[in-house]
Amino acid sequence: MNSTHLATSFALASFGLGLLTACPEDEAKGADNVSVEDLGSFTTDTGGEVDIPWTTPDGVVSTEVFCGPYGYGDNLATAAKITSPGGSEIYNWEDPYGTAMRVGTLDDMLPVLLSVSPDLAVEEGDYTMRLLMAVSNLPATVSCSVVNRIGDVSGSNTVDVNVVFVGVDGIVAGMTGAAAESDDTMKAIVAGLGDLWSDLGIELGEVSYEDFGGDVDKYTVVDGDEEFGNLLREAGDGVHLTFFMVQDIDLGDGASVLGLSGGPPGVATVGGTSKSGVVINVANAASNPDEVALIMAHEGGHFMGLFHPTEKSGAGHDPLGDTPECTDGNSDGTVSTSECSGKGAENVMWWAAKTGTSVEFSGDQAWVVARNPVVLPK
Ligand SMILES: [Zn+2]
Repeated sequence: MNSTHLATSFALASFGLGLLTACPEDEAKGADNVSVEDLGSFTTDTGGEVDIPWTTPDGVVSTEVFCGPYGYGDNLATAAKITSPGGSEIYNWEDPYGTAMRVGTLDDMLPVLLSVSPDLAVEEGDYTMRLLMAVSNLPATVSCSVVNRIGDVSGSNTVDVNVVFVGVDGIVAGMTGAAAESDDTMKAIVAGLGDLWSDLGIELGEVSYEDFGGDVDKYTVVDGDEEFGNLLREAGDGVHLTFFMVQDIDLGDGASVLGLSGGPPGVATVGGTSKSGVVINVANAASNPDEVALIMAHEGGHFMGLFHPTEKSGAGHDPLGDTPECTDGNSDGTVSTSECSGKGAENVMWWAAKTGTSVEFSGDQAWVVARNPVVLPK
């Protein structure tokens, strides 16, 4: 595990977005809207629990606390409970669908974002999350930070995107930092992404292209959860969303995965963590750029706080009131796209990709995304 890199990233992050001004054209970007605070180190009790307190500022529109690293394999963490400034218990892992809050059970790094639903808006004041860790060595110590976004979200919103090519010019020759801007396939992908996200009420802002600066041969086929997390650590700080374009993703069961997001949600605006971006499989890009656009819109949606309307097993649902729910009518353990026609399968966040059909986002999904720290007023 690259803990040195992560520690450096947290140290830089504690200075807030001032460090972004190294790039002149980004001078003011996000500085009035987003702040990053290092909350320090926390050590659990022998049961794996510790309280993480943080304070949201006046005018807060979203807050994301994230704690780690704690490694892979059977090492997992979640929130046992979260208490709001008003003293309400807004999340309890023993009843994960009991409130309009969702928290992942994740390896290496746990990001927790408020809000993920208009039914549970973020408040100003003191929050407490009781972190619950199931790791091999207890007590465990983690570092935690928080990203807060403030300001007006009622106008037009935009998101900047960094596209990082990890050895994929053999699939589409123009998938390089130098050639992407004039490549027809990349133009089609970006136009498709812009179309899908316009339904979320956000516009694509600056789209930048670069070649991966790390070990291309190691990461061009992402092999397993740890490699996925290590690739995401290569994402830089900044108010943008980073997409790593790879040849294939294999999480160990032999089946190709089309795309993966850190989290969900991902760690917004802070690079160097195992949840700092999104990985996209571009194997079919030449023949089906629309599919790549859909994968980017879907995984980017996860990164910004959206969940599947109904999970693949049928057992869980997103916390949104305007996305339809589907039940596993034939009890085969999977809610299929055909089974859920008219019950969520038309949503971009449906768990199975489907191109060639009309797909959409909901108003509540747009509400959530407008508040994410990577999204800014135009
Ligand atoms: Zn998904």
